Amino acid sequence: MRFAIVNGEKTEAEKGLTGACVGCEQPMIPKCGQIKVKHWAHKSQCECDHWWENETEWHRAWKNNFPIECQEIRHRADDGEWHIADVKTKQDHILEFQHSILNPEERQARNNFYGSNLIWVVDGLKKKNDLVRFNSILKVAKLIAQGINLIQLPSLLDDCPLLKEWSECSGPVFFDFGMETPLWCLLPKTSKGRHYIGPFARKNFIELHNGLLTQNGQTFSELIKVLKEIVFSYENPQQQVVRHQSRPPVMQRQPAIPSSLRYLFYSNRSPRRRSRRF
Ligand SMILES: [Zn+2]
Repeated sequence: MRFAIVNGEKTEAEKGLTGACVGCEQPMIPKCGQIKVKHWAHKSQCECDHWWENETEWHRAWKNNFPIECQEIRHRADDGEWHIADVKTKQDHILEFQHSILNPEERQARNNFYGSNLIWVVDGLKKKNDLVRFNSILKVAKLIAQGINLIQLPSLLDDCPLLKEWSECSGPVFFDFGMETPLWCLLPKTSKGRHYIGPFARKNFIELHNGLLTQNGQTFSELIKVLKEIVFSYENPQQQVVRHQSRPPVMQRQPAIPSSLRYLFYSNRSPRRRSRRF
């Protein structure tokens, strides 16, 4: 883990320190070698969070986008089960950064444990062919809204194991294909069993989860709700979504995917209350 509790404070591993685990409170010793990123390890075998995986630079880079007080947070359910979330934002979203391959049972267990507040960020560069296959599937996908780039994926995702693996989550899943490209936001499967995905600026993702708002004054949750409503209107053209604030953008049927995909939205603005920024 990146942090242990030393003298009551979350502290990074340094030689000579001893600390206590943020999860199980057992003694931790610092590991400051040359190969792995600096971290804390349990002094002895114990019943800590079996979901925790060894961290990579990719994990650390993601976690560093958020304040220390939001990183490695013990989350306890009503029945007493607890796990350590990578990041718990001040808006109560759980961000899990997933680098290693996760078996379906474990993924489902985490979805069940954290519920709809869970947002996955998946390392899309972990497996060699994932990006090539992802790009191939986009070529046969259909853009549903011109002003806002949401793409309907083919009904069978067998050609893209990465998307297929993550297609049953109850919250949005973001794929990270490296700093040169936007994140890709896969929305939860609709009631008609279809999947939609769109590019999402990394900077905006980070800012929204640090309490900033979109240019339309939306929080992250509100933005995802709007995207789901756009999809609902697209799938159910006869039914109107009852809206109280902003209207969804005008949509066109089956336009071609432009060569340079724009993001789902463009820039963020300052929060309503400055104190929410950190
Ligand atoms: Zn522990």
